[in-house]
Amino acid sequence: MMECKAMVLERFNQPLVMRTFPVPRLKEGEVLVKVEAAGVCGSDVHMWEGRDSRVRLPMILGHEGVGEIAELNGEKRDVYGNPLQIGDKVLWNRGVTCGHCYFCKVKMEPSLCPNRWVYGIHTSCAEPPYLTGNYSEYLLLNQNVDLFKIEPEVNLQVLVPASCSGATAAHAFDLSRMESGDSVLVQGVGPLGIFAIAFAKSFGASQIIAIGGTEERLTMCKSFGATLTLNRNSLSFEERKETMREITHGRGVDVAFEMAGEPDALKECISSARTGGSCITAGFGEPHGTIELDCFHDIGRKNLRLQGVWVSEVRHTHMALKLIMSRLRDFTKLITHRFPLDKANEAIQAMKAKEAVKAVLIPHG
Ligand SMILES: [Zn+2]
Ligand SMILES: [Zn+2]
Repeated sequence: MMECKAMVLERFNQPLVMRTFPVPRLKEGEVLVKVEAAGVCGSDVHMWEGRDSRVRLPMILGHEGVGEIAELNGEKRDVYGNPLQIGDKVLWNRGVTCGHCYFCKVKMEPSLCPNRWVYGIHTSCAEPPYLTGNYSEYLLLNQNVDLFKIEPEVNLQVLVPASCSGATAAHAFDLSRMESGDSVLVQGVGPLGIFAIAFAKSFGASQIIAIGGTEERLTMCKSFGATLTLNRNSLSFEERKETMREITHGRGVDVAFEMAGEPDALKECISSARTGGSCITAGFGEPHGTIELDCFHDIGRKNLRLQGVWVSEVRHTHMALKLIMSRLRDFTKLITHRFPLDKANEAIQAMKAKEAVKAVLIPHG
């Protein structure tokens, strides 16, 4: 029987521990992948801290990954119809949905499926099939997994963020009704915000304003398409608002994207959107505060459209994958830190300290 090493979260706020698991026998339709790169997400830090109620310990963290098919049970095709075989490189959709419920079948919004679960978030490794998180040498993919076959010459590491922040940003744009020529504000300069800037550019935004807290990140935003960057540590709320009004003929932006997960950022997005504009909020992955709104001025009189975004669907992973493939050189810069599997704790700390834009683990480095 084959064995596999993985980094396990056994106790919150304590270092992950390397453990060895047996590789289980595959059931019909399951796929075993050799993980080539696992993304370390900001929400992994929250899970490690015990702030995510979906987590059941012990667990193998990691919901972002790319890899190579090591074993298959039965015939399998990817979402484009390509037949899959051992050795193929693949990206997979991180969420598995039931396909039968009101949200999956009637409303066609599988991201809201109450039975949806995600590798490395909802899955404990206490019982078989154990290998359900990406901080591992191997990952067992469920029979309902949605796969994307990747051409062998593509460097897989660069695709890692497509499965989480890229797909969530795609969902935000899918719901935004943004039009070509619109002015756009993006609040937050982590991977989610950077994907939003890249999507805004590809959707034909005339102006893309990025608000963040460090010059280094704001410079990176420019390379992804931001036309104006505003540092919230050197400009006041009023100064930022005034600047945005000036460049939008006194109206405010057409669409404001909250990608920071901070209540103040959402408030600023609502305040920056023009009359009849939209505010899309995708930054909140867990409870993180409240804001006060003036019901008349901020929403009603303004005819504001306020849209929440929760996770993503297969179509959004496809959108993020295609976006990255169209700008491979830019997106390579997003991966700022690489660690071997046994240094996963350092990777989490680099994300927690916001030193890394995106850290990845390379289990077979
Ligand atoms: Zn994530
Ligand atoms: Zn469902």
